[in-house]
Formats: sequence, structure tokens, C-alpha cells
Amino acid sequence: MRAMQSQIDPSPSLPVNMPIAGHVDPVPVPREVTPREDGRVDLIGLPKKQIASLFETAGLDAKAAKLRAKQVFHWLYHRGVTEFEAMTDIAKTMRPWLAERFVIGRPEIVEAQVSTDGTRKWLLRTADKHDFEMVFIPDADRGTLCVSSQVGCTLNCRFCHTGTMRLVRNLTPGEIVGQVMLARDALGEWPKSASDTRLATMAGLDDEEDESAYSSDGRLLTNIVMMGMGEPLYNFDNVRDALKLVMDGDGLALSKRRITLSTSGVVPMMERCGEEIGVNLAVSLHAVTKDVRDEIVPINRKYGIDELLQACADYPGASNARRITFEYVMLKDKNDSDEDARELVRLIRQYKLPAKVNLIPFNPWPGAPYECSSPERIKSFANIVFEAGISAPVRTPRGRDIDAACGQLKTAAEKKSRAELDRLAEEKMAALD
Ligand code: SAH
Ligand code: SF4
Repeated sequence: MRAMQSQIDPSPSLPVNMPIAGHVDPVPVPREVTPREDGRVDLIGLPKKQIASLFETAGLDAKAAKLRAKQVFHWLYHRGVTEFEAMTDIAKTMRPWLAERFVIGRPEIVEAQVSTDGTRKWLLRTADKHDFEMVFIPDADRGTLCVSSQVGCTLNCRFCHTGTMRLVRNLTPGEIVGQVMLARDALGEWPKSASDTRLATMAGLDDEEDESAYSSDGRLLTNIVMMGMGEPLYNFDNVRDALKLVMDGDGLALSKRRITLSTSGVVPMMERCGEEIGVNLAVSLHAVTKDVRDEIVPINRKYGIDELLQACADYPGASNARRITFEYVMLKDKNDSDEDARELVRLIRQYKLPAKVNLIPFNPWPGAPYECSSPERIKSFANIVFEAGISAPVRTPRGRDIDAACGQLKTAAEKKSRAELDRLAEEKMAALD
């Protein structure tokens, strides 16, 4: 068995100690994934083809490997099973053979919290003991899962709590798609088996009624946003591989229209994001002048506003039917004047962008150097954008009481002084140069 594992590369896209995001951003990832001590390979996060080739390397002939991979894939992603023993159409003798060589991973749940507004936050742990977070936001007509792409973030947006963490490492495809699977586990949303349905009918429960009850209280996981911890375009390959499994009709089968990836503006990766993943794009713009954006979203020193907006104009698949979302955090006396709002409108027009603007009231965290704009200021800003014919909803903060709102995610609760935070910002900035 060991010999088999040394011949195969369980996941070629695991993050390693090398430049990330291709040739453009040589930001080192400090820590690689530690292989499992028991030598088994986690199947979650691997495409069907790769599962088949693992089965073949382990001794099955090509035809059997392909068939087993198809069956296993269905059980993993369509039915959400976590034990090979539950795969009832696979021969009884075959199941222990699989269990000896492979595992069906899920991130470990360290803590689960529920906000007074129904928002849920999970503190999760990787197999090699790194903590990260995932948030579920139920609404009347949808349920949105906010997924993390990295443990920490190499960037240091000044208003973002995650930015005060050192990047520990990229999450693997399995750890990214694993969040969606964990949410389905927690929400009880895997399709029922035929026998469960029969039992429900015998018990007088109507399955269709069940479904509509789910949707009306917004419990169903209908949308995914890559807006948790980390910069998804600095972990491009793993995010792409994970989202492909989420979108795969034989996998989790969520439409790309229901998935949004948010970037702080990693310009050189945006075209590939549109072409290779094809999901909706959100851009953390947050400021309309070089000075202010350089300060609050420091990646702006590398890729400026004009370059960023041009990349948005060129984003494959953007149209009036699929607009790009510009996120704009409202910071008191920093980026919230009427003049800023007018400049935002001018820029969107100049680049002819199919755009909508999300105005996000700043969510505070201990030691944050900013305050949230007043409700009147936010209203005035929103009106200017709206009257120019651009949708500009003000986001209601969700889950603030459990620190689950945008920008509040941070694990390990390291308490840092202002001076330490400034020093860390300097370090991260130097890495950008
Ligand atoms: N790294 C990616 C995605 C994660 S952040 C990005 O920056 O786009 C998700 C969104 O929350 C971003 O728009 C981010 O700018 C915003 N955000 C971060 N900190 C915030 C805070 N304290 N209050 C409100 N929004 C915040
Ligand atoms: Fe990283 Fe996004 Fe936070 Fe900026 S806003 S520090 S890019 S997670």
C-alpha cells in the first residue's frame, strides 16, 4: 500500500512552498500541507478522472477503476456519505479495500455558533491543525454560504480583520469544497435515498412539502460566495478545482450563476477566473482615488484603479444580465463623501461597466483604525449612485454578534497592539513590492 502511495501524486494542486498566483505574485506560502500519517489519500477535492487513476494504480483494471470512480463520486458529492460502508451498490468485499487506502475527509468542526439573526459561523480545523472559518447567511429567498480560500491572507486591507493574520497556508481543493459539504451535512440537505423517501411516505410525510418549507425559511444552501478568509485569486488553482466540483452536474451541481468570487483586485488572474471558472465576479473597490485605495486596499500599489477597471471591462462573461459587483465599505471621513460617490459613477461610466454597487457598512473589530459612516452619509452616497441608474443597495450587516460579518473573520484571536498591526502591514506591503 505504501508503495502504491509513493507512485501516485494524490493531489497535484496541493499548495507547496513556491510562488503563488502564477508568475505575477511571488508571495511565498509559508507552510505546505502535511501528508496524513496513515498514508491514506483523501478523495474529497479530486476530480473523477483522478479518482479513477488512483483506483487503477491501486490495482483495479482500467474499466473497473472508471466504473468504481463514477459510483464513488456519486456517493461522495450527490449523497454526501462519509463512510465507504454506506456505498450500497459497491460490493461488500470492495468497501474495506477502499477504506484501507482512502478516506472521505471533512474539515473538523471546532465550534459552531448561531447569531440572533440566524447567521451561523463555524470554526473549522484542517487535518494538519490550522483553523479557518465559514459562515452561512439565511435569507427569505436564499441561503448563502461564505467560503474561505486561505488560512489568513497575505494582503492587508486596513479595514479587514483577516488582513491582520499572517497567511498560514492556502486551503486545498478538498478543504474548500469540504466547506460546502459540511454545510450540507449541518443543514441536513443531502438528497434523501429512495428508501428514506419510502419511509417518509409510510410515515405520512410529504417530501414536496418538506422542500418548500426549506425554501421559505431560507435554510436551503442556494448560493456560494468566495468571501470568507483569504484572497481566492492568490489560490487560483485550488479554488478553481474546488468550484469545478461544486458546479459539476454529477458533483454538487450548483449553477455558476449562483457562485460569486470576490477579489481585492489581482488583475493578472481575472481573465483566467472568467475563462476557467466562469463564476460571477465581485471586486473589492472601496475607494476611487489612488491615495485612498493605496491606503486601505494596498494591492492597489501594484495594480491601480485604471488597470483594475479595464480588467473588469474585459471580464469574460460579464454583461447587463451578469453584472460585476463592486463592493464598497463605508468608512467615516475616508471614502464616503458625495464627491467620492460621483467619482464612482464617473469611473463606472468611463469603463462602460455592467455594474452594481454593494455598499457595506464597516463592521468594527478590536483595534480597527476606522469607524463606520453615519446612516445619513451612507444614504446620501447611495442616492447619488442610484440616481445615476446604478443599483446600490446598502447591505444589512449579518451575524455581527458572533463576529461573522464581512471582515470580522479571524481565528486564533491573537491580540495585537496597534504598533504590531502596523509592523505586520509594513511586512506585507514589502512583499507586494
Ligand atoms: N479577499 C477577498 C474576499 C474576502 S473579503 C476580497 O477582499 O475581496 C469579503 C468582503 O468583505 C470584501 O469586499 C472585503 O473588502 C469586505 N470587508 C473586509 N473587512 C470588512 C469590514 N471590516 N467591514 C465590512 N466589509 C469588510
Ligand atoms: Fe485579504 Fe480580502 Fe481581507 Fe483584503 S479584504 S485583507 S484581500 S481577506
